[in-house]
Amino acid sequence: MGVSKKNAVTRNSPSLAIVETNPHDNKEMIPIEAPIVSSYNDRIRPLLDTVDRLRNLNVMREGIQLPTIVVVGDQSSGKSSVLESLAGISLPRGQGICTRVPLVMRLQRSSSPEPEICLEYSDKVVPTDEEHITEAICAATDVIAGSGKGVSDAPLTLHVKKAGVPDLTMVDLPGITRVPVNGQPENIYEQISGMIMKYIEPQESIILNVLSATVDFTTCESIRMSRQVDKTGERTLAVVTKADMAPEGLLQKVTADDVSIGLGYVCVRNRIGEETYEEARTHPILAQKLMFIQATMISRCLPEIVRKINQKMETAVVELNKLPMVMASTGEALMALMDIIGTAKESLLRILVQGDFSEFPDDQNMHCTARLADMLSQFSDNLQAKPEDVTEFLMEEIKILDECKCVGLPNFIPRSAFLAILSQHVDVVLSSVIAKYSENFPQIQSSIKRAGRNLITKIKEESVERVMEIVEMEKLTDYTCNPEYMTSWTEKTDSQEDFIHAVLYDRKKPEHFSLTGFGNVEISHLRKYHAHLLQQAFDMKMRITSYWTIVLRRIVDNLALYLQLSVKYLVNSHFQKEIVAEMVDPRAGGGVERMLEESPSVVSKREKLKNSIKLLKESKDAVAAIVDQNSGYGDR
Ligand code: GDP
Ligand code: MG
Repeated sequence: MGVSKKNAVTRNSPSLAIVETNPHDNKEMIPIEAPIVSSYNDRIRPLLDTVDRLRNLNVMREGIQLPTIVVVGDQSSGKSSVLESLAGISLPRGQGICTRVPLVMRLQRSSSPEPEICLEYSDKVVPTDEEHITEAICAATDVIAGSGKGVSDAPLTLHVKKAGVPDLTMVDLPGITRVPVNGQPENIYEQISGMIMKYIEPQESIILNVLSATVDFTTCESIRMSRQVDKTGERTLAVVTKADMAPEGLLQKVTADDVSIGLGYVCVRNRIGEETYEEARTHPILAQKLMFIQATMISRCLPEIVRKINQKMETAVVELNKLPMVMASTGEALMALMDIIGTAKESLLRILVQGDFSEFPDDQNMHCTARLADMLSQFSDNLQAKPEDVTEFLMEEIKILDECKCVGLPNFIPRSAFLAILSQHVDVVLSSVIAKYSENFPQIQSSIKRAGRNLITKIKEESVERVMEIVEMEKLTDYTCNPEYMTSWTEKTDSQEDFIHAVLYDRKKPEHFSLTGFGNVEISHLRKYHAHLLQQAFDMKMRITSYWTIVLRRIVDNLALYLQLSVKYLVNSHFQKEIVAEMVDPRAGGGVERMLEESPSVVSKREKLKNSIKLLKESKDAVAAIVDQNSGYGDR
């Protein structure tokens, strides 16, 4: 069946309301003062006022999202019509792109018979009245977005204080257009959809999706977008307009809920043509539903908002205190430089030597000692994993024994692998720490960065030399007092007899022999050698293998110790010297005196922080009343 001819009929489904307004019969309207509304004034109204005050203060500029009803819909779906019937006023309406900027509509019920209406944009407040709203909005839109057909995301706020309007704050956004019309920029679709996304993405937003009854909901662009940010539809409400134009099948369409609208559907018929608001009075069910949803969302979000305000304010104060004082003399500048060096040095020691990375908890690159341990053990694994050539097993040893060559340790530490470890360990940390501590003095940052690079080059050269020495030492003597060597060697030698048997005497002439630590090695190529030579080769292989394990461990350990030591040395004694040397270098221009000029970036940063603090302080005052009433807020 179609839409009922009664004024307001709620169907069985609690989330489905079908409303039609009949211009000639508006006495049966559900009054806004329903029973649930009785506690509204005591409990909800203060919350609403608080959020409105925060909105007025523009706390959203500080990245704090407020619960907002955002009206979205494809072009000409009837968004403006729905809003104007809620507000009981005329808005620019009709074909083509009318809404070109976000229009924040703040409806406030008032007891005074005289409506108060004003527009607020770009720090201006322009009073207007019911007859001139449309003109005023169009004029303001022209100021904000230009007089063409372009759009802008700077909002325009319309305050409507009037008897009988619901207490609601809603944002009307431009309708989604696929194809730019004359005079519209080519990327109009991207601009509008970007703006819509920005408004509907926050979890605090309630999406009021306006759908025309005449279209297939599943093809609506606005549905596609709201489902991207609210998959389950838990914060999406649908208003189906033009119920008068396609009454057939409308009920089935909304009951089927093909597009998962969690908060339900409200079907409406808006004012048509020259009808007055008194004739086509608002949709009380829609208004009530919206007020209820809004109140629920606000009470759910407020504790978090209070927490965020406090937290952002603390951070801003800390940031402001970190900014340098304005300096007047070279002496002061020098002190400031020493201060930077001192704190950066402490930070480097903590990160590089002590492994305390609490300063950069989320940056994996800064978790140095843990990373270093990882890198070294990986390095050691790579060295160990030198693949054994199973087809040529023992051949190298046999060749050596044949030619009486001296056995040496292979030249195994690839220079590049070592340098990579060192770079990863030190480079990133040094430059991040330097950047962090000198960020307020961009004028000397390049000198300090250059000093950092010089340091790294130096430490690399020294370290490579040192590592080569460690390797040389190992090559020179085959000394170890590690008892593991004997254990390992004896263990490996135990299989010697079986091995020789398999190679020379086993009648089955096996192709392979399974050897612990080497896997299934090929042995057929060994049959032509004497038992004695094979025994010797086998013995040599086992000795070298056992020894190799120990040498490797020793080298990796040495390397780790050396790295720690040299990093400490770098930070403790080279760091300061190198920076000071760079700072007084005449080629860098001007020494510490450069620090006397306050950089514009610091000046503007200080201004910005001061403004933020002022705004957050005011916001804190605004929520103070609520916090006092509900002492649970804010302390979490
Ligand atoms: P917007 O672009 O989404 O803001 O849509 P508008 O509110 O400007 O409406 C577009 C057109 O649809 C206007 O001509 C309205 O008069 C018309 N319209 C809106 N709602 C209804 C409705 O419920 N019934 C009928 N018949 N027309 C409507
Ligand atoms: Mg519109």
